[in-house]
Amino acid sequence: MSDPVESLAALTIHRDLDALDSALVHSLAELLQPTAIAIHRVVGLHQTSSRWSVSARLGRLVTFGRPAERATLDDELSPLHALPAHQTCLETATVRSFDAASSGVGLDMTLFPLGSTGGPVAVLEIQSHRPLEPHEMQTVASILRVFQNFWNVLDESERDTLTGLLNRKTFDDAFFKTAHALPGTASAAPGATGCWIAVFDIDHFKSVNDRFGHLIGDEVLLLVARMLREMFRHHDRLYRFGGEEFVVLLRCDSEADASRALERVRERMAHHPFPQVGRVTVSIGFAQVLPGDTPSTAFGRADKAVYHAKQTGRNRVCSHADLVTQGHACEQESAVGEVELF
Ligand code: GH3
Ligand code: MG
Ligand code: MG
Repeated sequence: MSDPVESLAALTIHRDLDALDSALVHSLAELLQPTAIAIHRVVGLHQTSSRWSVSARLGRLVTFGRPAERATLDDELSPLHALPAHQTCLETATVRSFDAASSGVGLDMTLFPLGSTGGPVAVLEIQSHRPLEPHEMQTVASILRVFQNFWNVLDESERDTLTGLLNRKTFDDAFFKTAHALPGTASAAPGATGCWIAVFDIDHFKSVNDRFGHLIGDEVLLLVARMLREMFRHHDRLYRFGGEEFVVLLRCDSEADASRALERVRERMAHHPFPQVGRVTVSIGFAQVLPGDTPSTAFGRADKAVYHAKQTGRNRVCSHADLVTQGHACEQESAVGEVELF
């Protein structure tokens, strides 16, 4: 086993949650030399919609009796009950060890729960040709304690305290990762889908505060955030950009798909009876993210579309592409050149 202290040093260099998961997997792989190791995170906040998503993986992980070839695939977002041993590990917050005969994967398998302040949120899986020794289990448990504390600190710094959505600070990084993987770019994954950015702005929110007070206003923001979480898919990233403005990076195949998804949100919001307040509506603007876009150019187009939605009656979804077609915005805003980095 190589040096556990070195592993901790390697872990705590990172300032990005995805990179931290990947660093943990690499450090433990070096220490234990397993056949495969992976972190399964629970995505989706509601029990009915919770799924497993592999956030980091090394080696040939066997799931459902077959090797998983890729680290994160939408169709690998299996429901929690599809991996019952993992589900029990998560729900009971206990380490679980299986030998080759009982693991269902033909190898020894050890599952460790990974927690956050609110309880377990992920499972670390180690598959190996031999059971882990007691001293190895002890070392892994110690490394996981440091990892979790560090993960929680980073996670809190990336989230908006009121709604728990991602905050604006993390938007730029996520945007560049998404923009680099767009279809037509050199680093696009096979089968990559397009990306749209949508900006949601609650209509006449100042009047909600004025009529019902700030606390009820906060309650509305919480409910809106919850509805957005429920209505978007696991891989769509949701942000609170401050105040009563929310942003989503939406993976879709076409402008029409994006428009349909956003129209559903607008309609559901408009029909939801908000306690005390009654009816609350949102204006939504959206634009396709284009290769070469920066966060501000893409956001600027979607924001222009929100402005148009406000000007034309609120409680509406407006596309920047439509504004261009109708002559309300010019083409240049949507045709962004490649950014040269030097
Ligand atoms: P419009 O339809 O044009 O968007 O009108 P609006 O009233 O929603 O827009 P405006 O930008 O004039 O007001 C936004 C209000 O949002 C003002 C501010 O008091 C309120 N607000 C911002 N952040 C918070 C918050 O965290 N909690 C609460 N309760 N209110 C907030
Ligand atoms: Mg606003
Ligand atoms: Mg508003």
